[in-house]
Amino acid sequence: MRVLLRPVGCPPSRAFTPRLSRCFSTVVDAPPNPAPPPKAPSGSVFQDAFGAVAPRTNWTRDEISQVYNTPLIELTFAASTVHRRFHNPAAIQMCTLMNIKTGGCSEDCSYCAQSSRYDTGLKATKLSSVDSVLEAARIAKENGSSRFCMGAAWRDMRGRKTNLKNIKEMVKGVRSLGMEACVTLGMIDAEQAKELKDAGLTAYNHNVDTSREHYPTVITTRSYDERLATIKNVQQAGIHVCTGGILGLGERPQDHVGLIHTVATLPAHPESFPVNALVPIKGTPLGESSAIAFDAVLRTIATARLVLPKTIIRLAAGRHTMREEKQILCFQAGANAIFTGEKMLTTACNGWEEDKAMFERWGLRPMTQDETVQGQQETAGEKKLEMHFDEGTTPKNVYA
Ligand code: SF4
Repeated sequence: MRVLLRPVGCPPSRAFTPRLSRCFSTVVDAPPNPAPPPKAPSGSVFQDAFGAVAPRTNWTRDEISQVYNTPLIELTFAASTVHRRFHNPAAIQMCTLMNIKTGGCSEDCSYCAQSSRYDTGLKATKLSSVDSVLEAARIAKENGSSRFCMGAAWRDMRGRKTNLKNIKEMVKGVRSLGMEACVTLGMIDAEQAKELKDAGLTAYNHNVDTSREHYPTVITTRSYDERLATIKNVQQAGIHVCTGGILGLGERPQDHVGLIHTVATLPAHPESFPVNALVPIKGTPLGESSAIAFDAVLRTIATARLVLPKTIIRLAAGRHTMREEKQILCFQAGANAIFTGEKMLTTACNGWEEDKAMFERWGLRPMTQDETVQGQQETAGEKKLEMHFDEGTTPKNVYA
């Protein structure tokens, strides 16, 4: 037998009408609140993004700006809903990123510890041996990582034939462990991209970092278009693209919009969109920067989820500076991959045990191989959309 309790704070002398309202202190079998459903706060752009059933690459910057500037509470709710339409919200891809060649880079990226132009105290190294990299990948796999990323601090791959040969061995070795393999090696041409594809490479990381307008204040030795040319080579070789940005480079909110617009209007959306929060490195031009506000990080993730609904959104550098509750808000807003392990390139990283404990507390779990973009393509081609929410909570019903 159900018992209706009087709501806390509802005096007994007042008429108590449990059938008209729902209170948290009632054992509820009262009908739901008959109030009309909330109205979408902004115009049709937001509603369209909220109702998306497939990615689109014809976004205008103004449209993305409208989404980005939606009140945050509405934006994150919409992102969370769209996230459930395209992904299982409990599944977080665990990746480990290893620096396979540290420092000595000729570029002048003003946030980077590995540029030879800044005195950051980092000692340059040669390319790691294939065996040592594969041993690190094995450890990462044992700890639950399903993607192993390898980064080398180079401007480009010109004249690096032997290094490329060794990197291809690393890629083959990582793939033979049943893991996804990603590399970031600077600029590559079409031929190098094809070689990496033939070796089995899953994804190539090449961040655009920020908006086209803000970019020249951050890097002068490589143009935005050169970055896009590498991304094009990677896409044309049939390798997944991992490209995203760094927040906290002294940019303005419209630069977050510009960053998302760049990747959202590529011929195909990137498989992966990393969101980094700057970790200021002493000795670099941005070494004294103050931290990016968390609401800007959250807003960027939520906007990216709505604009890039199928893409894996990767909570990358700077996660170790976020309290667990903030990380969970990011997952709620659509982030579904993390870097985990001992280190992330030259910056600190949340360890496997810490992440496992967080997953346990919040009902999260590592993404399985068949849930990744790569895995879905391998097993079922363009699999039909999985719906992870009840019929009654479809966008149309919520924002009728
Ligand atoms: S290209 Fe990469 S390694 Fe080189 S300075 Fe820029 S971010 Fe650092």
